[in-house]
Amino acid sequence: MQFIHMGFTDIFRKWRPKGKMYSLRCNQCGKGFLSSFALEAPVCGSCMQKIKSSDSTIDYDKKCATCGNMGVIHAKTQCYSCYFRLQK
Ligand SMILES: [Zn+2]
Ligand SMILES: [Zn+2]
Repeated sequence: MQFIHMGFTDIFRKWRPKGKMYSLRCNQCGKGFLSSFALEAPVCGSCMQKIKSSDSTIDYDKKCATCGNMGVIHAKTQCYSCYFRLQK
């Protein structure tokens, strides 16, 4: 009885890890990676650096729909910090 109960708890923990790590796939290069955030647009570390270093992908005439700052990702409605963070 006790053993069965513990086994069930173990499986449950694997499904829902306490630290809440999300298994994501980079939408730029397709590489899988882990993040503690449930990203709306998962981007791995190396692709994030490429995106951040490229000014041409920012539309400075538009306002972020979430925080109101000027400068959003081209063809999107949010700035980098909002778009790549937890969307809850
Ligand atoms: Zn990537
Ligand atoms: Zn924003």
